[in-house]
Amino acid sequence: MNDELLAPFRAAPERAGIFTDFDGTLSRIVEKPAEARPVSGAREVLSRLGHRFSVVSVVSGRAAGELLEWLGDDIEIWGVHGAETVVDGHVVLSKRAEPYRDLMTRVLTEAQHRVAALGIEGVVVEDKRVMVGLHFRAAEDVERAGALLDGIADDLVQEFGLQRAGGRLAFELRPPETFTKQDIVLARTREADLEAVLFAGDDLVDLPAFDALDTLASEGVATVRVAVASDEAPTELVERADVVVAGPEETIEFFERLLS
Ligand SMILES: [Mg+2]
Repeated sequence: MNDELLAPFRAAPERAGIFTDFDGTLSRIVEKPAEARPVSGAREVLSRLGHRFSVVSVVSGRAAGELLEWLGDDIEIWGVHGAETVVDGHVVLSKRAEPYRDLMTRVLTEAQHRVAALGIEGVVVEDKRVMVGLHFRAAEDVERAGALLDGIADDLVQEFGLQRAGGRLAFELRPPETFTKQDIVLARTREADLEAVLFAGDDLVDLPAFDALDTLASEGVATVRVAVASDEAPTELVERADVVVAGPEETIEFFERLLS
């Protein structure tokens, strides 16, 4: 790797920011998301970075509370793609998510009523603070449960003007506001008036953060894109990266080089 890339970070850490994903970047990918933990040395190196650089920020799709527990509060934490953050050691909705708190509380209550009225076992309504999950993995007749929840989700989207996401065995109701890593990287870089910005990630949802770095580079900010390569890493992420590391342990080694 070309060490010149890191020169602006070493020269003026008080004007530099380090942004990083969590799963696959600071932790190994595991079968059950709840079992993920940061690799050895991650918390320590982030803490040291946090004391040296203007902004050190973990930006993840996970709940902010988990990241706070595992990584501590020497760094910034953005959970649920920026819908949650941590202030004074407590998880709060971010400024952009806060206006949707009441709306999503009403959606949660409505979803709970309608799902309960179905009277089928094994369906779960999950309170994700500013999002609502509808799960049917554990239903006896998954297909029927899925079709019924699909109808409820569609109705709620229409009635409350929501966005919908989700996979094969769960649906997610989201407020009419998009949360991506791009927004966080751009907003924090501008708020902190950074001159050098780095982002490390391993997955498709990290591409918007690389987009943010492209925008910042066009405005004269020094940028470094770090991709964590794996069998599952998207080709585009690796191709667009300035630095490729082989796994989360190497991410930690790379961060240590920033401190040396
Ligand atoms: Mg990841």
